[in-house]
Amino acid sequence: MIGIFGGAFDPIHYGHLRPTQEAMQRLPLAELRLIPAARPPHRPPPVASPAQRLAMVELAIRGLPGFRSDERELQRAGPSYTVLTLESLRTELHDTPLCLLIGADQFQSFESWHRWQEIPDLAHLVVLSRPGTAPGALPAWARGRECADFHELHTVPAGRLAFLPVSPQDISATRIRAALARGERTQGLLPEAVSRYIETNRIYGR
Ligand code: ATP
Repeated sequence: MIGIFGGAFDPIHYGHLRPTQEAMQRLPLAELRLIPAARPPHRPPPVASPAQRLAMVELAIRGLPGFRSDERELQRAGPSYTVLTLESLRTELHDTPLCLLIGADQFQSFESWHRWQEIPDLAHLVVLSRPGTAPGALPAWARGRECADFHELHTVPAGRLAFLPVSPQDISATRIRAALARGERTQGLLPEAVSRYIETNRIYGR
């Protein structure tokens, strides 16, 4: 079973890395692909360039077994809609079970995503808990899809919904960018190699 995790990664931080490492072990996943969005819809354009965000992802996952970066959204024109990414992965992976990992904040706005109704047919949805986002009521579309036993995710290619409580990481890229713009330290929020890259390339500084 393969996991995918998309985001702006502007920059990638431990709030991305620790929850996905836990998902890797708990589901478990044979592979996890991190997919930087070229032009993420529903948010202001990222500060770092697509190439810089990809470079930071690659530095962050160096030495993490099973983690891979995936450039397909950077190679595609137009808004980086998840449904298009899943269609392209599905063509490649045939019937391999696929889990789309998203933070609880993203799950709350899931029904605003482009062609969201088609997404559960392409992948399982695995929702990672995130500080600041309370678990809401189960939306109507999700009834009958919820699965408490992660083994079930391995038995069909797509269509299930699972909630995975992970160790809370009170970190956001917004907070990191703001700290760097004020010239503050961000130790412990993101990998050292990523911090060094940001500094060398003067990405978010004053
Ligand atoms: P920004 O602050 O710039 O909006 P972000 O920190 O939320 O960024 P994104 O790259 O937008 O990071 O998020 C990618 C994915 O990671 C989303 O599914 C998001 O919900 C999830 N995510 C981000 N931070 C956390 C966290 N601390 N805990 C759990 N999930 C997270």
